[in-house]
Amino acid sequence: MKKEIVPKPKSRFLRVQCLKCKNEQIIFNKAPQDVTCLVCGNILAKKTGGMSIIKSKIIRVLT
Ligand SMILES: [Zn+2]
Repeated sequence: MKKEIVPKPKSRFLRVQCLKCKNEQIIFNKAPQDVTCLVCGNILAKKTGGMSIIKSKIIRVLT
């Protein structure tokens, strides 16, 4: 029996809260560019080559 145990980084939608203005927003964790808060312009997620670096408070992960 062979089990697949490789943890693949999954692309997900996250509900996050801006650390500055508390605005809640849904973001994609593999966005091709920086994601900014729609209210105050604060960076919520910074782009990398792959997964974004989340710079905000994750409230919940949506599947
Ligand atoms: Zn904000």
